[in-house]
Amino acid sequence: MNMHDREAATFFHTYKRLPLEVERGEGVYLFTKDGRRYLDMFAGLAVNALGYAHPRVVDAIRSQASCYTHLSNYFLQEAQIRLAELLTRLSGYPRVFFSNSGTEAIEGAIKIARKWGSTRGKSEILAMSNSFHGRTMGALSLMDRPKYRDGFGPFLPGCRVMPFNDPAALRKSVGPRTAAVVLEFIQGEGGIRPVSAEFAQTLSELHRELGFLLIADEIQSGAGRTGKFFAFQHYPVSPEVVTLAKPIGGGLPLGAILATGDVASVLEPGMHGTTFGGNPVACAAGVAVLEEIEEKNLMGQAASLGAKLKDGLTGLAREFPALIKEVRAVGLMAGAELDRSGDGIADAMREKGILINCTDTTVLRFLPPLIIEPSHVDETIRTLGGILAQVK
Ligand SMILES: *Cc1c(COP(=O)(O)O)cnc(C)c1O
Repeated sequence: MNMHDREAATFFHTYKRLPLEVERGEGVYLFTKDGRRYLDMFAGLAVNALGYAHPRVVDAIRSQASCYTHLSNYFLQEAQIRLAELLTRLSGYPRVFFSNSGTEAIEGAIKIARKWGSTRGKSEILAMSNSFHGRTMGALSLMDRPKYRDGFGPFLPGCRVMPFNDPAALRKSVGPRTAAVVLEFIQGEGGIRPVSAEFAQTLSELHRELGFLLIADEIQSGAGRTGKFFAFQHYPVSPEVVTLAKPIGGGLPLGAILATGDVASVLEPGMHGTTFGGNPVACAAGVAVLEEIEEKNLMGQAASLGAKLKDGLTGLAREFPALIKEVRAVGLMAGAELDRSGDGIADAMREKGILINCTDTTVLRFLPPLIIEPSHVDETIRTLGGILAQVK
């Protein structure tokens, strides 16, 4: 039996898998058992910021695993502390809590908002339409798309979803009982949709006026992908709480909540915790990732190569105006919205040896490793252009 049949025979049928049998990865490439090489412009959904088998990450994992792979959070752990020091320095937030995943970081952020609000007469949490925060019940309570929620209710009380990028709706939705507003400053799964300047301005004013917590979900956009450490740094806002995950464990499961000192202090000993969160091997890998991002200026590279990718996509949009409706990109988080479902085009790209993804049905999404080179961007644009020419 091939891998596909073995999987189909045993798994919950929750995932649609790609028809690839991967043997190994190296740098920006994946190699399959049939000897083909793929340029990975999707990077394990923004997880593999340094690509595959990065020597620094591999060494960090090996050396931590040979000491211990788990102690529990009863123990002080050097790798955790080193990652916390790096994250707090790079982010400017003084406090961190480690989780295992993105959705767990969101759950923790919801708890912080509720606890913080409990002494202030604030409990309501406001979130945005078309967003994605994870698959647990708290995260789903902050989302509105039926594809993720249908049939799973009832959800958490006191959570409300308002229209994304609608300043008037925001003014109407927030009030003295609002404990927190949660949002992705660039919606990822929702189709690479950045917050508008006008919406950010209104949000910033209301944030100052009403004093709710601003919670930025940077799980997909964070740690340098957009050319700044956080996507929200492209706007005049200052969130009290930030969630991180995907790239920060070097491919191992790791999430984080960052917070200002005041807000972090609402959680006292015993109020929140996790068995696996902050796993030392994941933290050691995360240290390698963040040090490499800093030392090699991969954030600067994300900005410049992101601009190149955006230029290329914009050129294709000019060449194929009937096919590409809009290009949206900030750094190496890019999307091209098509006039049709993008699955066929993502499949055609894969046939030609380049992995991209299609999200929100019609949006081709590019989340390459931060280590890509200009030639990889050229190759992607050239290949996509060839495919679009045939569609036409
Ligand atoms: C992926 C993602 C999550 C959920 O992370 P998991 O690790 O899959 O739980 C939450 N928010 C955003 C913006 C994401 O992209």
